[in-house]
Amino acid sequence: MKRVYNFSAGPAVLPEPVLQQAADEMLCYKDTGMSVMEMSHRSKAFETILDEAIADLKQLMNIPDNYKVLFLQGGGHTQFAMVPMNLMRSGSADYIITGEWAKKAYAEAKKYGTPRKLATSEEASFSYIPDCTNLDVNPTADYVYICENNTIYGTKFPVLPNTFGKVLVSDMSSCILSEPIDVSKYGLIYAGAQKNIGPAGTVIVIIREDLIKEDVFPGTPTMLQYKIHADKNSLYNTPPTYGIYICGLVFKWLLNLGGLEEMKRRNVEKASILYDFLDSSKLFKGSVAKKDRSLMNVTFNTGNKEMDELFINASLEAGFENLKGHRSVGGMRASIYNAMPLDGVKALTAFMVQFEKEHAL
Ligand SMILES: *Cc1c(COP(=O)(O)O)cnc(C)c1O
Repeated sequence: MKRVYNFSAGPAVLPEPVLQQAADEMLCYKDTGMSVMEMSHRSKAFETILDEAIADLKQLMNIPDNYKVLFLQGGGHTQFAMVPMNLMRSGSADYIITGEWAKKAYAEAKKYGTPRKLATSEEASFSYIPDCTNLDVNPTADYVYICENNTIYGTKFPVLPNTFGKVLVSDMSSCILSEPIDVSKYGLIYAGAQKNIGPAGTVIVIIREDLIKEDVFPGTPTMLQYKIHADKNSLYNTPPTYGIYICGLVFKWLLNLGGLEEMKRRNVEKASILYDFLDSSKLFKGSVAKKDRSLMNVTFNTGNKEMDELFINASLEAGFENLKGHRSVGGMRASIYNAMPLDGVKALTAFMVQFEKEHAL
């Protein structure tokens, strides 16, 4: 069967060469005579997979030496709790609420102290990113929290907030590795792998070393302490071994194609095709403020629920999967992560042009 163009927000499309290599190595990884899935996490072969994945990610993102890379489990949702349990030691933190995921992270943080809502765009259905240049940051806040790319709404912070020197924590689940960033501006970055990196079940945490502390919220489970995992190089217990292996293959794929500068160029090219069409279309329009548009999740609609539904059904028949918007917002969403080929975006745009010809009044 032919592979479809999969615009899923997550779990999402993976690079075909990575899937092919994983298939080739499925039964026998190199000279081990076994699959990576069957290997001890304490074996030499797996140790190399893990160490290379960390080194390759550090190279790709230009991660400074005073940061640790951790491969954990529990998805983004576990980070909603781990961040405050480990970092909110004075009991306060400031959250910028730009979508469902930030909102959930904020609600979770309330269990471990008294975080504040520093800014929000909820009054406008999260269709833009608030101006974060001069917010009233709490002098006692342990960190300022953002969800940098809002997967559901299709917005992204055009610039980082001014935290007035406070530690910045960023949920980068749906934009990590989409373009170069300056890691030194962050205290902690985390990302579930299933959006822009690899399979579900692995979450990557990049944390500045001075934030890794023994002093955590009383009663924090051992498995939810960054220090436990950092001290053991993510091998405190059995890590998500196969997920780490696939993430490692994706890192090598990115390095081979030229790293994040080249990835950004490709992502801008892809997103521009769709956004330019949306801006000229009589039928479709983009769903969020232009200045805050995401490179990864392109949200759009026709302004008419029945027409949206007609489009989604027609797109499915034409071989474009998962264009339906998140259940909380409706409309359409094309997630065009790193692994979505340019041809997929061109084909979708051509399909939209044709659909418009047939349906515009
Ligand atoms: C998908 C997503 C989450 C939730 O991740 P889970 O792994 O399902 O817990 C959190 N934040 C962002 C930005 C996401 O896109």
